Amino acid sequence: MRKTNVVRLLPEKEALWTLHAVGDRVSCLWNAGNYICRQAFIGKEKVPNYSALCALMKDSADYKALPTHIGQEVLKKLSKSWISFFALRRSFAKGEIRHKPGMPKYRKDRKKGSRPWDYIPVKSTAAYCVEGCLIHLAVPADIYSQRIAIPFRGTLRYQGDFKTCELLYDNAKKRWYAHIVVEYQERVVADERPEKHAGGDIGARRAIAVSTQGNPQSVVYSSRQAWKDYKYWSRLIAKEKTRLSKQGYKTSRRLQMLYRIRRLRLRHAMEALCADIVQGLRRSGVTHFTVGYPVNCRDNANFGKGNELVHNFWNFEILLRIIEKHCIRAGIAFKRVDERGTSSHCHICGRKVRRPKTDIVVCPVHGIMHADVNASRNILRKVTPALAGDGEKASPGWVVMRWNLHRWQSHAESANNRVLQEAAHAAA
Ligand SMILES: [Zn+2]
Repeated sequence: MRKTNVVRLLPEKEALWTLHAVGDRVSCLWNAGNYICRQAFIGKEKVPNYSALCALMKDSADYKALPTHIGQEVLKKLSKSWISFFALRRSFAKGEIRHKPGMPKYRKDRKKGSRPWDYIPVKSTAAYCVEGCLIHLAVPADIYSQRIAIPFRGTLRYQGDFKTCELLYDNAKKRWYAHIVVEYQERVVADERPEKHAGGDIGARRAIAVSTQGNPQSVVYSSRQAWKDYKYWSRLIAKEKTRLSKQGYKTSRRLQMLYRIRRLRLRHAMEALCADIVQGLRRSGVTHFTVGYPVNCRDNANFGKGNELVHNFWNFEILLRIIEKHCIRAGIAFKRVDERGTSSHCHICGRKVRRPKTDIVVCPVHGIMHADVNASRNILRKVTPALAGDGEKASPGWVVMRWNLHRWQSHAESANNRVLQEAAHAAA
């Protein structure tokens, strides 16, 4: 499996200038190669693939201006973007996507009349190496006679064989970052635990319920607080956008920073959420985790005001991917299933339930239950038909976990904290 380490580069003045120059040449080569491809496409000829591009470009000044392993990688990226352009065209012809795809663009800023220099791809360790806290990078001979050494900050989280590397300049933060790809061997947890299942349900309305086999108590993660935080930053973004449009601008550094903060804060909550779920599963010895999610919900449904909630904030695909990642690390088999039909029947008796509100269901016999808990128990029942979930014994009890902007904690825990704080306050 390939994983990416991201570290921040700390280039000195000279190195900074070198990166700028190399980045500019990358854009030059990209544009020259792209010109050939675009002309071929417009002239209804065959667009050259990677090896043809290399053969065509190898004597050009733009190609020679870069170390081979950077030049080749640029052409590879270019031909990849043409391949995906053709794939998109095919999907468009079939009517699978709505917007007509455009040809890969030139790297230039029309407004400023300049080329961006914020991207340097490096093919392999032939052109860079990582030693201690230094990255050594091959640069064009006319710029500097040997490799430049750039110190970096950050840890290499994944260890393994180094593959490609990309140097990217973040315009909002005004910093260079290196994305170093490694071939990473996932640590597989060896065990002979007895098979034990857990079922999860991702609700369309920002909650996840998890039920474990043999445990009558389910856990519901309510992302209400995280959603409030997301909305807070969205309001700031909207304000900044209005301010900019009044002055006739479209973007600013501040706006980019706001987007970044919102994205990272959300990501933090989601990662913590999935880590907390999987930690709980691991503690109770679960070996198989099945998660149901609304498969067609996002494409077809229009939630009106809730669109932003479903499409940007509560994104099932991203959530599922993060859960899967944590499951792999913990050695738990992960499976996703369509959740259709799981919320309309009682998990104990199978009778049809009423749904007076979005988050509760009422069984004529068993009374009020949390809709997502019911769904997660139904999923658990589906995957363990021999055991039939926990059947009659399972009382529909659940704890609700909330995000306190640092970690997920149960209501009881936060109430406890409040009592302690009040006691401390009273004592003082
Ligand atoms: Zn029932």
